[in-house]
Amino acid sequence: MLDKKNFYINGAWVKPNSSEEIKVIDPATEENCAVITLGNKVDVDTAVNAAKNAYESWAFSSKKERIELLEKLYENYKKRWADIAEAITLEMGAPKDFATKLQAGTGASHIKSFIRYLKNFEFEKPLGEHAPNQRLIYEPKGVCALITPWNWPMNQVCLKVMPAIAAGCTMVLKPSELAPLSSMILAEIINEVKFPKGVFNLVNGDGATTGDALTSHPDINMISFTGSTRAGALISQNAAKDFKRVSLELGGKGANIIFKDADPEAIERGALRCFRNSGQSCNAPTRMLVEKSMYDEAIERLKKYTENFEVGDPKKEGEHIGPVISETQYNKIQTLIQKGVDEGAKLVAGGTGKPDGLDKGYFVKPTVFADVNNDMEVARTEIFGPVLSVIPFETEEDAIKIANDTAYGLTNYIQTQDSEKVQRVARKLRSGMVDVNGAGIAVDAPFGGFKHSGIGREAGEHGLEEFLEVKAVGGWS
Ligand code: NAD
Repeated sequence: MLDKKNFYINGAWVKPNSSEEIKVIDPATEENCAVITLGNKVDVDTAVNAAKNAYESWAFSSKKERIELLEKLYENYKKRWADIAEAITLEMGAPKDFATKLQAGTGASHIKSFIRYLKNFEFEKPLGEHAPNQRLIYEPKGVCALITPWNWPMNQVCLKVMPAIAAGCTMVLKPSELAPLSSMILAEIINEVKFPKGVFNLVNGDGATTGDALTSHPDINMISFTGSTRAGALISQNAAKDFKRVSLELGGKGANIIFKDADPEAIERGALRCFRNSGQSCNAPTRMLVEKSMYDEAIERLKKYTENFEVGDPKKEGEHIGPVISETQYNKIQTLIQKGVDEGAKLVAGGTGKPDGLDKGYFVKPTVFADVNNDMEVARTEIFGPVLSVIPFETEEDAIKIANDTAYGLTNYIQTQDSEKVQRVARKLRSGMVDVNGAGIAVDAPFGGFKHSGIGREAGEHGLEEFLEVKAVGGWS
């Protein structure tokens, strides 16, 4: 079992004040794979203090210095890529190939992308030609609390740490207590790169104690959080007390609208996007809306595809999916699948229980429900497992209405060959992102949601600006 009890504070690995420990569980075997410490208020104070002290000089560091350090970080990240992927497989069960290409890969893509945006970003510029003595200055927001979940650990951590560094902020990262190992490798990389002491700090811990101490700390100026809508609301309450800046990336219940002229791969591609990462993606298209005239054919195809969809050992190579993160999450998914059956949705494939031959580990059967009504719980709740709810629709207006009839608004999907229809529907969908015909959303496009899916945007230039305050100076000469 890995000993990961120390925290990274003020440029060194330190022994925590807290003696409360928890085991990190490998979800594929249900065995303990590492031990971490749950930080207490003293640990949080120490880390925030280090970040506060470092801020005074880091905020005024040059763009050149930040670029050089981030470039070194990128080189070292590439050297540790395989270790990061292995840690992700161990901590949250993403299969080897997926963990390497996508989970660790997106982290690398964000580092590279933020270096590019930093190089091109103008931290000072005139308001416009009409007002030459009016200057805009973009300054770091200050000391940041960065809180991340377990489902895309390196993606989410890099979406926060890299723009915070680029902006000149200092930070305390609290990764998910369920999947802290990859973040601790990132801290090792940051240590090797030799950032000034206190710019980056890592404290492990849970939400109720460590997360709460961090988000209510008076010296934290900004909170960047990715996780559940429930925790996002609690964090916002803490932030409101002293007007901390808040960026929230929360849940989703994406609709994938399949019109009858969709390309031939659209149905299977939609199911894959729902099941990938064992359904644990906030932007997963978990409601498939299918035009009535092709509905029966779509259900047949989904049945065949899902019954042959492989679930297996994440340590093995291949395109299969692994387990879900925890016993709690496994049980929640089982309850929701049963709820779907009880509410009268038609079980087309999968169902409750574990896939054949996978008795140990939190493995879930990829599941498809047909004849779902958008009021059923399987259509409204973010299940965060490989469960697809299929809903028929008659007209374009119906499809838009069903897609928008949700508390969330993160990513919606459109499948049609008609480009006018694409543009009409994309404009009417109430979500931060719309993915058409499997094109995907670019790594540097603004990532974030409408409604209960959050506040703010990550990635690319928008993601960098989240960590900056704008100051207007009149009379600049
Ligand atoms: P979670 O909210 O339980 O935990 C996320 C993080 O917040 C963890 O580090 C946790 O310790 C911490 N936390 C929990 N309660 C807290 C509190 N009261 N104060 C401070 N910190 C607290 O979420 P999870 O189960 O780890 O992740 C799954 C959720 O994340 C899903 O709802 C998913 O949709 C969402 N998510 C959203 C995005 C996005 O960009 N929109 C991306 C990935 C995941």
